[in-house]
Amino acid sequence: MPNQNSKAGHKAIRTCVVCRGKSAQTELLSFILLPSGIVYDPARLLQARKYYVCPQQVCLNQLPKWRKKRQKGRRL
Ligand SMILES: [Zn+2]
Repeated sequence: MPNQNSKAGHKAIRTCVVCRGKSAQTELLSFILLPSGIVYDPARLLQARKYYVCPQQVCLNQLPKWRKKRQKGRRL
């Protein structure tokens, strides 16, 4: 795989875990999962598997449900 990130103006596209919609990474909220819950990482400081969600109520509301499903072993 060639490194697409080296291209100027390239936008990293990420998928919202709730609605599966694709958006630019910069337009989504990133978070990580800890045993204690969901931790948002707006500054992208944390070194961990990142998940992304749309910054809109309809998707944020579904996050706890998504997390429960995930803990039952469903892989995303
Ligand atoms: Zn979404």
